[in-house]
Amino acid sequence: KTFADLGIVESLCEACERLGYKRPTPIQEQAIPLALQNRDLIGIAETGSGKTAAFALPILQALLDKPQPLFALVLAPTRELAAQIAQAFEALGSMISLRCALILGGLDMVQQAIALGKKPHVIVATPGRLLDHLEKTKGFSLRNLKYLVMDEADRLLDMDFGPILEKILKFLPRERRTFLFSATMSSKVESLQRASLRDPLKVSI
Ligand code: AMP
Repeated sequence: KTFADLGIVESLCEACERLGYKRPTPIQEQAIPLALQNRDLIGIAETGSGKTAAFALPILQALLDKPQPLFALVLAPTRELAAQIAQAFEALGSMISLRCALILGGLDMVQQAIALGKKPHVIVATPGRLLDHLEKTKGFSLRNLKYLVMDEADRLLDMDFGPILEKILKFLPRERRTFLFSATMSSKVESLQRASLRDPLKVSI
């Protein structure tokens, strides 16, 4: 199968080609058609499986259809992973002049507040700092968010981000799509799933 067979539009297929993605990986082949059907998803897959593009492509395709600032939020457990995810969005979204903000702990809040003020399409963040901005940064709101991704959910919970995720969820609209990716399924991941996803489909590789 090709990315086009999965329902990906030509401009994004070309972006994949430019990045050397010849054909979809197994997690992409399973997740992309479901994500394009507007369903919440649980993806059980490890880093290295191509999971980032599995959620980034459907989000970019929805954004192409209806461009809007503050469209998607991706939460990741570590700064390194968050930076990689932002890089993937920028690479795949380069032809639509995608604006992507990277919001990490330990860096200057004021600079980040300025970046958020520019209304990026996609925010990739570590949870603690994102919550700080939701609570403190004037004029920053995710009330119109359309997509939430929680990546490496098992690690997010192992690092005790659970209570912070709960608080973040209170700032997000209920009418949204949510994708949860995790290398493993645990009881903690299941309870996060119940708190944040609606009638999800599960894909696993
Ligand atoms: P990830 O699991 O998202 O961290 O991706 C692992 C690596 O695979 C990254 O370097 C991606 O750029 C690359 N990748 C993602 N999708 C594909 C694909 N369909 N074909 C080849 N490489 C890919």
